[in-house]
Amino acid sequence: MSEELKPCPFCGGEAELDTSQAYRALSGGTLGSRAAVYCARCGADMGFCYEDAPGTPREDIVNQVVDDWNRRAPSPDMREAVEALTTLIYEITHLSAEDDKGRHHCYISKDALESARTALRSLTGAKP
Ligand SMILES: [Zn+2]
Repeated sequence: MSEELKPCPFCGGEAELDTSQAYRALSGGTLGSRAAVYCARCGADMGFCYEDAPGTPREDIVNQVVDDWNRRAPSPDMREAVEALTTLIYEITHLSAEDDKGRHHCYISKDALESARTALRSLTGAKP
């Protein structure tokens, strides 16, 4: 294989390569196999069916799928922002309470808020 797999571009999860993933063709219903890279956490995947490129060495198809997957991977700053925002959203949705007047209050830790702000600033280039 040509290179290591980058994390999932959607969730940052670990990616895995399957060089003989079975699939059933939409038209005709025949069974085939493909090279596929998929996220072990969220299930995002991309692949290429060997039968769609007759005569092409399988190794070339596998390398192309790996290259395509890695080209879609986000920068480390994007992963950091997604993790920070995920933490913030978790706190907003899980650390909340209703007062005796029926008003809804949410509690966010300063750390989670500052991490999200810092990560977003690094993505947008905004000044603090
Ligand atoms: Zn994922």
